Amino acid sequence: MADYSINTQCVQAGYTPGNGEPRQIPIIQSTTFRYATSEDMGKLFDLEASGYFYSRLQNPTNDHVAAKIAALEGGSAAMLTSSGQAANFMALFNICESGSHIVASSSIYGGTFNLISVTMAKMGVSATFVSPDASEEELNAAFQPNTRAMFGETIANPALTVLDIEKFAKAAHAHGVPLIVDNTFPTPVNCRPIEWGADIVTHSTTKYMDGHGAAVGGCIVDSGKFDWMAHADKFHGLTTPDESYHGVTYAEKFGKEGAFITKCTSQLMRDLGCIQSPQNAFILNLGLESLHVRMPRHVENGQAVAEFLESRPEVSFVSFPGLKSSKYYDIAQKYMPNGGCGVVSFELKGGRKAAETFMKHLRLAAIETHVADARTCCLNPATSTHRQMSEEQLITAGVPAGLVRISCGLEDKKDLIADLKQALEAIG
Ligand SMILES: *Cc1c(COP(=O)(O)O)cnc(C)c1O
Repeated sequence: MADYSINTQCVQAGYTPGNGEPRQIPIIQSTTFRYATSEDMGKLFDLEASGYFYSRLQNPTNDHVAAKIAALEGGSAAMLTSSGQAANFMALFNICESGSHIVASSSIYGGTFNLISVTMAKMGVSATFVSPDASEEELNAAFQPNTRAMFGETIANPALTVLDIEKFAKAAHAHGVPLIVDNTFPTPVNCRPIEWGADIVTHSTTKYMDGHGAAVGGCIVDSGKFDWMAHADKFHGLTTPDESYHGVTYAEKFGKEGAFITKCTSQLMRDLGCIQSPQNAFILNLGLESLHVRMPRHVENGQAVAEFLESRPEVSFVSFPGLKSSKYYDIAQKYMPNGGCGVVSFELKGGRKAAETFMKHLRLAAIETHVADARTCCLNPATSTHRQMSEEQLITAGVPAGLVRISCGLEDKKDLIADLKQALEAIG
């Protein structure tokens, strides 16, 4: 499949039925798998043979879909998780432990920020947050001897900052640690972070990959390029025998290509069990089959809506990396020449009150705490996700009271713009 274009891979990678087998990926709705002898099963437990024994760790439906996403990202191996949160936690925790340190972009999804700054801190993993616009010197200064990973989002949710993947990868590699990139917003159709130096890519498949607001899920893709053995002292979980798996040393037995995902499956999935249900994996695959057709329309609608909003007197600023006025325009062109995604944020001059009136009058765009769906939706953080904050706190957090985030769906852009126009006019 690697010889085919990403458009063909979206449709067909990951699963090739044999003669007389189902054309569509079968949903293997089974918790467990049958073996003829204890010896056969023993080989699976020793990681001597590959196969399935319990769907808390692995399921064939999931593995077909994960293989498709690995192909799309140009990675060597992948696994599905129950959510994007689980994907980011497991990707980090696979190489971090109590006493480790993470360098992360400060411009990331709120859930991931909490995960790193609060929950992982309770587990003894500390973090330094850096601006996505930091200079090389500033990035280098954030690393410590116990740093085990660097983390950022290609296009951050909701700030829409764009990560300079090459610059971040260079800093991570200079300090002997992998760069983990959450590529949820552009998807591999618009950006393939591994080609720019990222070592591990994560996804909330809940967003564009599913694309229909139908199934929560996540994915971890390994590039297979990071040399764990060359930094054996930092990553002893991969480079020394795992006593909970009969002394297997993942980096030796599975090599650069397989070590990360094998360890993450056989240790973390075994112990934490946050696997995607095969039913959700099937739904995710339906979304993936049209991802390459849908993404350009999301981008087209986002661009048209951003340009329209920029021309309106009620709007004080518009943030969208595809706008020439965006400070991320050049870097977005470099990493995403075909555009990034369909999410736009903008501030209404009239503040909170204007935002409330505007949102109330929208007919097509629904108010939702969601993005990246076939149906256009929007959110005013000040009256929802950031409701507990004061006006001053909102400004410091970069979410002024009049800020609206709109996720442009797959509707006709003329209808979307007409809807926005009448709602803006209602502000008066
Ligand atoms: C939504 C989101 C997540 C969390 O994903 P869930 O599937 O909701 O757990 C992580 N990263 C980004 C960039 C997201 O947009």
